[in-house]
Amino acid sequence: MSHPTEKKAQTRSGPALLSPRSNRRRFLQGLTATGSLLMLSAPAIAQSARPRLVVIGGGSGGSAFVRAIQAQAPDDFDIIVVSAQKIYNAPFALNGIPQQKSGPCSTATIDLVSTFERRGVKVVIGRVERIDIDKKTIDIAGSETPLIYDALIAAPGVGLKWEAFGLEGTPDSTAIWTSDASCQDFLAMLQKVPMGGLFALVAPAGHNRCPPAVYERACRAARWFKEFNTSAKILIIDEKDEYPMQAMFEEAYVDYYEDMIEWIPRDFHGGVQSIDLKSGKIQTESDVFELDVVNVIPPQKAPDFLTITGMAAEDGYCRIRTPSMQSAIADDVYVIGDASAADELSKSAVSAVVEARLAAVDIITRFAKSPPEGKVDLADNCWTLVAPDDAISLGGIYSATGSKFASDERFMSTVGDQADMRKANAEKAAKWSGSLLQSLYGS
Ligand SMILES: Cc1cc2nc3c(=O)[nH]c(=O)nc-3n(C[C@H](O)[C@H](O)[C@H](O)COP(=O)(O)OP(=O)(O)OC[C@H]3O[C@@H](n4cnc5c(N)ncnc54)[C@H](O)[C@@H]3O)c2cc1C
Repeated sequence: MSHPTEKKAQTRSGPALLSPRSNRRRFLQGLTATGSLLMLSAPAIAQSARPRLVVIGGGSGGSAFVRAIQAQAPDDFDIIVVSAQKIYNAPFALNGIPQQKSGPCSTATIDLVSTFERRGVKVVIGRVERIDIDKKTIDIAGSETPLIYDALIAAPGVGLKWEAFGLEGTPDSTAIWTSDASCQDFLAMLQKVPMGGLFALVAPAGHNRCPPAVYERACRAARWFKEFNTSAKILIIDEKDEYPMQAMFEEAYVDYYEDMIEWIPRDFHGGVQSIDLKSGKIQTESDVFELDVVNVIPPQKAPDFLTITGMAAEDGYCRIRTPSMQSAIADDVYVIGDASAADELSKSAVSAVVEARLAAVDIITRFAKSPPEGKVDLADNCWTLVAPDDAISLGGIYSATGSKFASDERFMSTVGDQADMRKANAEKAAKWSGSLLQSLYGS
């Protein structure tokens, strides 16, 4: 968040960027109160013998990248993390509503400033508006002075194409799909549904962040309604005619939620034309749906500040080289996580971590004194909870072949899996998010 009075650059800890102690203390006080913007503007190489790595995003990809560099080349770089928000709500926990009528929900809420400072990493809280890949600078809202990098690691997640459904502005948090929103926002939506009312999820077409999560959300909502609003119904108005692990989800809708969830494919409604969030009216080519509460998950792409540089492919995600994750058009820019067009690698936190490690290996090889160690395993696995003791899973093993990440092996749950196996999946799912958060943000 920017601060109108803080036009000039200020500095935080770190040898090349050390500011007078009094300024630093004043800034820290300001940050606590307002989450204000901190700017670091000095040319990296001119002030420090160490190359400066600027990481955009403190989420799954950005944090995993910092971890990988600190593990393998702790003294070789100055690292600055820039994040639009001080508080990161891990998107992979956004569906985790509690089993009470109300009350606290997600435990995956991270204070990025204290987390990174504890690790000795400088943090800038501010929204990146533009990057210049020739001058190697980034512009942050509210600052007149660009931040200079030697290598830029872009991990800003996805931008929402809100306009796709005729919606204006960028009310991202109402989608509850990015780290702008919290699981509490999802719970608040369910609480707004009147007794016996209709809740709709609008599911996007295209290549999006964690595709099964929309249908997992329907199951989580149904489970909550079964306790607290037994006659409510859920419509999934889909812009697709099929979706990942569909047979297993359909099995769950019947086995656990009876008639509560109805999936309406595009083939049936002909395509969403407009949505009025206030009245709850959804106009499709063939029908008008009147809902009590609508959760729109718009189609996605890399955020605008990346796409306007020409880095994005037709699908809106940034083209990269494999296995380095370097931008296809800029040697000193690495795009990791959901913003990258990483072919068969899923848009998941698991893949973001893998991609972060690949980028770290390349950067250490290029800039650091000692070569990187070990090999990065190209594999992912995601678990999706359809009921408390029942999780389905989807994963793969990949290789970097030519300019692509191709999948060598895929594995997926099947309809009629043994209950024991599904229960074991549910246990793994529960442990997974905790251990990922610990590995990314723990001490
Ligand atoms: C409901 C749901 C369930 C999911 N379940 C799973 C799962 O079970 N398993 C799994 O592996 N994945 C899951 N995911 C996907 C996973 O959360 C994402 O793939 C992962 O978080 C992507 O990491 P990222 O670093 O690219 O982006 P994010 O983790 O979203 O981090 C983005 C960071 O960039 C910052 N940022 C954004 N724009 C700017 C800007 N302009 N300037 C500065 N900073 C900016 C943000 O503030 C944030 O710090 C799920 C996602 C959702 C929505």
